[in-house]
Amino acid sequence: MSEEFDGNESLGIIAEFTSLPEPEPAHLRAYRFCLQSAARRLLPNFGVCRCLRRVIPDKLPEIHHSVENEHAGYRNLQLCMLIHVCPVCAARIARQRQVEIRLATEHMSTEWVMLTYTMRHNRSEKLRDQLTTMCKAYSEVHSGKRAVFLHEVYGWIGSIRIWEVTHGKAGWHFHFHELVCRWGTHGRVWDDFESDLRKAWVRALNRQGRDCNTHGFSLSDKRKDIADYVTKYGHLPRGTWDDAAEVTAEQYKDAEGGRNPWHLLDAFLLGDRESGRLFQEYAVATRRKQKVVWSKGLRDKLDISEERVTAQLSENCASDYTLLAKISIDDWRLILRGDHRAELLRIADTGDRTAIFEFIERLRARYAKKKDHREV
Ligand SMILES: [Zn+2]
Repeated sequence: MSEEFDGNESLGIIAEFTSLPEPEPAHLRAYRFCLQSAARRLLPNFGVCRCLRRVIPDKLPEIHHSVENEHAGYRNLQLCMLIHVCPVCAARIARQRQVEIRLATEHMSTEWVMLTYTMRHNRSEKLRDQLTTMCKAYSEVHSGKRAVFLHEVYGWIGSIRIWEVTHGKAGWHFHFHELVCRWGTHGRVWDDFESDLRKAWVRALNRQGRDCNTHGFSLSDKRKDIADYVTKYGHLPRGTWDDAAEVTAEQYKDAEGGRNPWHLLDAFLLGDRESGRLFQEYAVATRRKQKVVWSKGLRDKLDISEERVTAQLSENCASDYTLLAKISIDDWRLILRGDHRAELLRIADTGDRTAIFEFIERLRARYAKKKDHREV
């Protein structure tokens, strides 16, 4: 089982953007770069600061291009893989996670429900405290004899758990979604399962001195709800990239259902320092917290192998990426200086090598002028 671990800040992973299927539109890619730069300003001690900026030792940054996709990507750069704070890595890994979850939930012999666990919270509460309490309560529900009994009675064969965080008028809201699986031949109704598990959740929260309202625990066995959740997984939500130019930081504060971490980064970009502070709190509280957890053995039971996932990912993937340009380290420094990474890729999408070097030449001239100006 290869579970996602997103606490790796060694930056040892090579950027191979060119192998991704279904390249994003240029404006969305540029927006992710903007958000990543905002995260870099807010988190000087996180690997996101060096993500897609630091070059692999003994290599030069390269741009590869696909004629079929009219798309370019960098190679020989390092990635942070911090999917909870890096919008660029989040997009990359979300696609893979989405394929894995879809393959699992579409397994012919299985039946799925989606559980949502929340608890009552207040405005002044720290995210770290809320997260700790929720994790303890969840562990209690799913360990011990009572849990074994519950799992056996209802035919639970495994689950995929994902945490999410939003911030709204009532402060932080940390919650879990859990996709639970059993063999389709089991036959017992889910209604009793919902009621039994709800009781266990409330009891576990009470032991932590907490509680939840009637909506604090829910179960959906609708295929549509589950399919919608899987489809939306990893996408930037509405209210960010699609209409970013039309919203203000103030409007975000009233966003229905609260703002997610990308909303916070976006509001920070628009000048809201408090949103930046909240993003910092979120980043520290969730550091090294695994975002998606598959229960032990579930991948094997459902035959979710790396080969199957790779095959699905490459189905829509153009394979004609070729080297378009190598960039010197000095030029790469110029590109990073004003964060021209997205601008350069937009030019490279056309496949015009000459245009790339003309752009770099203009950067050289621009920054040389600034240097002369400073020296005067
Ligand atoms: Zn990253």
